[in-house]
Amino acid sequence: MRIRAQMAMVMNLDKCIGCSTCSVTCKQTWTNRDGVEYVWFNNVETKPGVGYPIQWEQQLRWRGGWKLDRSGRLRLRAGRKLWRLATIFANPNLPVLDDYYEPATYDYDALVSAPAGNQMPVARPLSAITGQPMKITWGPNWDDDLGGSQLYARTDPNLAAMTQKVKFSLEQTFMFHLPRICEHCLNPACVAACPSAAMYKRENDGIVLVDQNKCRGWRMCISACPYKKVYLNRLTSTAEKCTFCFPRIEEGTATVCSETCVGRIRYIGVMLYDLDKVEQAAAAKDNLVEAQRGCFLNPFDPAVVAQAEADGIPSDWIEAARQSPVWALVMKYQVALPLHPEYRTLPMVWYIPPLSPILEATTALGGDSASADDIFHGITQLRIPLEYLAQVLTGGDVDLVAGVLMKLAAMRSHMRAVTTGVDPEASGVGLEASELEAMYRLLAIAKIPDRFVIPKRHKEEGAALAAWESGCVLDAPTTVRMAGPVPVAAPQFANRSGRRP
Ligand code: SF4
Ligand code: SF4
Repeated sequence: MRIRAQMAMVMNLDKCIGCSTCSVTCKQTWTNRDGVEYVWFNNVETKPGVGYPIQWEQQLRWRGGWKLDRSGRLRLRAGRKLWRLATIFANPNLPVLDDYYEPATYDYDALVSAPAGNQMPVARPLSAITGQPMKITWGPNWDDDLGGSQLYARTDPNLAAMTQKVKFSLEQTFMFHLPRICEHCLNPACVAACPSAAMYKRENDGIVLVDQNKCRGWRMCISACPYKKVYLNRLTSTAEKCTFCFPRIEEGTATVCSETCVGRIRYIGVMLYDLDKVEQAAAAKDNLVEAQRGCFLNPFDPAVVAQAEADGIPSDWIEAARQSPVWALVMKYQVALPLHPEYRTLPMVWYIPPLSPILEATTALGGDSASADDIFHGITQLRIPLEYLAQVLTGGDVDLVAGVLMKLAAMRSHMRAVTTGVDPEASGVGLEASELEAMYRLLAIAKIPDRFVIPKRHKEEGAALAAWESGCVLDAPTTVRMAGPVPVAAPQFANRSGRRP
């Protein structure tokens, strides 16, 4: 057993209002520069919808993440090392600018310099890439709040097996918002695919970063990341990605997206995990969520604590792991689920599925949205949202999603009984009243110290960390390493027109 600590996040989708404040504050902080106009380290998508970049979940097209070969071993979906080397100058699996969008500004000068006339002057859109006038036809939030969903949502890859059913229920408004950042995976495909060893995972906190000095712009990380959370800076020709705001994290402060989140949906904490179990979990044949949970270690277990100390994890980090809201939501209450576990990267941003569409539908069916029985009934009846949520959060395991929603429904029902002075019934979901109330405090009314439990980086780690940061924490054979960097000018984006969902 080799124990490592990982900074991780949980987002409660029930509370996301889709305001995109997180995206804007992140952009203002990290990507408000030339060359990264189209880059969104944090973006918020409407589901069902095609997401950003377009259809990022369509791995048949992008070939991101990992798959099992015939003998059950993990392989990058992008192909073997020789194939990747052979296609390094013409990688067929890269998104182009049209799959993101052509960023625009407006000709504001026309508003103040236009000659006097009968018409109001107009600020026409100008391409932020070429400076030329352009027509805006696509953007990262184009299908926000199901706008144009009749046209776009049907091409959501998660709906592939259920298009007919959803076509009718869409009018009854089944939707939720999905904020996304880099998953800072335990088994990151981006790190494994990088031929220059520029992508790396920090040993002390698991944050995945790009060494800008080593990056040669091969962009293998972009195609290998199944979440499409690495971008190319079109001016420097180097990869850039969400840094989990590591300078803030090192000082014990929450990420910008979390601190400014209007819905207070985000939780940050430390998870201890067994590095030796990572490959096995990523290569699990089924029950992928359970397999990933099997990597996480109980910070209250004396044997785990002793090994963690032996592996150099500071005592305040072990204490933070005990207080971690992520541990509580992922392991104690088991209400958080990973995003697309079938990509096998073992993502470390987990999501609490939204109960609201179920409550809406329960009411529409004539039930009481505060009654656990009616909600349970609604959950089992509503096959469409459950199947959809299962596609997104469990790799298709509907029972797992239903189990989480039932816990959330039981919590609501219990708290309603407590608030109205009625004797609460037994939850029926395996949680005691005290646990339901503790879960409620964490999910509904938690203050900043409960939502963000972030130990500071130890200054004395600095030298060791700097030495380590030239490599990768994962020395398991799953992380393919290739030859050293070969200097080459990275090709710029091809601007291919006419690609729309
Ligand atoms: S989500 Fe982040 S860590 Fe995971 S593969 Fe993509 S870029 Fe790498
Ligand atoms: S700021 Fe919070 S509530 Fe608003 S879109 Fe982002 S995650 Fe959702």
